[in-house]
Amino acid sequence: MLQINKEAFFKLTSISEAEYPKEACGVLLGNSDLNQVYEVCNLPNLLGETDSFRIDSLDFLMIEKWAQHHHLDVIGFFHSHPDAAAILSEEDEIYMIPKLNYCIASVDRKGTNQVKVFFRQNVWEGIEELELDVK
Ligand SMILES: [Zn+2]
Repeated sequence: MLQINKEAFFKLTSISEAEYPKEACGVLLGNSDLNQVYEVCNLPNLLGETDSFRIDSLDFLMIEKWAQHHHLDVIGFFHSHPDAAAILSEEDEIYMIPKLNYCIASVDRKGTNQVKVFFRQNVWEGIEELELDVK
C-alpha cells in the first residue's frame, strides 16, 4: 500500500491537469520505511510530449538534495497519461526502477479520471499494483 496525504494527492492531480494535453511528470517524496508520500514535486518533461516523459538528471539531483535537506526520501515518480488509461505502458515497464513507486494519473480535458500506483520489488519479479490510500 502507498499512503499519500490529501494535499500531495491534490497537487499531483492539479499538475497532471495543468500540463494536459502534455504528459506531466515529477517525484514522490516522503518516508520510505512507511511508504508514505508527504510531498510531490513537478519536474519538467524534457520530451514535452503527450505519450512519454524524460526527467533531466540534474533536475533530479537538485530535488534529491532538497529532499535530503527536508528529511524526505525519494520514494517514487508520478506521470500523467493524457487521454489514456492509468496503466503502465511498455516503455514505463522497461524504465521502472525496483523499490520505487510509480504513480500514473489518467487525465483528459475534463480532469483526472483515475490514479494508480505500481511497484516492483526487483527486476526478476513481476510488477504489482498497490492500493493507493489518500488520507
Ligand atoms: Zn506512462
